[in-house]
Amino acid sequence: MSDKTPSFKSLSSLEDFIAPYRVSSGDQFKIKHHDPADTQGLSLEKGRARDFLEKGVDELSSIQERLYADNRWSVLLVFQAMDAAGKDGTIKHVMSGINPQGCQVHSFKAPSTEELDHDFLWRTHCRMPERGRIGIFNRSYYEEVLVVRVHREMLERQGLPPRLIGKSIWDERLEDIAAHERYLGRNGTRIVKFFLNVSLEEQRRRLLERIDDPAKNWKFDAKDLDERGFWKDYMKAYQAAIRATATDDAPWYVVPADQKWFARLVVMTAVITELKKLDLDFPKLDEVDREKLLGMRERLADD
Ligand code: ATP
Ligand code: MG
Repeated sequence: MSDKTPSFKSLSSLEDFIAPYRVSSGDQFKIKHHDPADTQGLSLEKGRARDFLEKGVDELSSIQERLYADNRWSVLLVFQAMDAAGKDGTIKHVMSGINPQGCQVHSFKAPSTEELDHDFLWRTHCRMPERGRIGIFNRSYYEEVLVVRVHREMLERQGLPPRLIGKSIWDERLEDIAAHERYLGRNGTRIVKFFLNVSLEEQRRRLLERIDDPAKNWKFDAKDLDERGFWKDYMKAYQAAIRATATDDAPWYVVPADQKWFARLVVMTAVITELKKLDLDFPKLDEVDREKLLGMRERLADD
């Protein structure tokens, strides 16, 4: 990674590294401008990427400790992607730097009957992280403007009053998601969203591997093959979602995901950078409390 290695000591060098992937205003956003195979010319073997990844785990761990002690902000990391893009592995890697007590992962599958009997933000809202914690959503309320948009029959099954299902339903949902995220932000939740951008060809390779490697057979899902046929529709839906909901307070990261190690590097760096901006610190005691603490120190020392 030679001269391009960002340094955890310098926020601006981290920001420079992830700038190409950070989307904070949607107007100009186009998925086709983002190359899934991009690695900024770095390679895992030759460079210091592995070293950087390990240091990142340590850095994240120390920031999380401050987030927990500070107990004011909460952090929500949202992961969205096509199948086999590497969500699970990336989440596992980010988690490796986090104390499990301060972090919870929630995976969202097709909604249950109970969930469908509520508004679409209900099930995720119940799972928002508490102050001082990091919440990770493996899929999220964004599915409501992705898979449901691509497979409109799912919308018919949601039990909505028919007159509320109009032409602009997707724009309305995106508007509601943006408003929901703004509301959460104003209440102290920092939201960072990741789209792991894998190419159709790399997905094909990974699905073949799931068939060819007996240890990976369990991961193979015939449904993933059908979904490949809707690739273009999905990309359109992702583009519309990112355009409508990217803000500086709840940015999207469009992460090149054809190289797993690079995707992890970008996600780790993005999480650290966004958390560093919160200016987290250990709570400081005022004079009176400090005096009390010193008194207790004396008692303990003489015990
Ligand atoms: P893996 O990468 O291991 O396959 P996954 O996240 O794809 O993990 P699955 O159990 O294969 O998990 O799939 C979950 C499915 O649930 C996805 O196809 C997703 O689109 C679907 N889903 C999630 N949320 C919703 C929703 N709100 N409405 C309809 N379908 C949803
Ligand atoms: Mg799946």
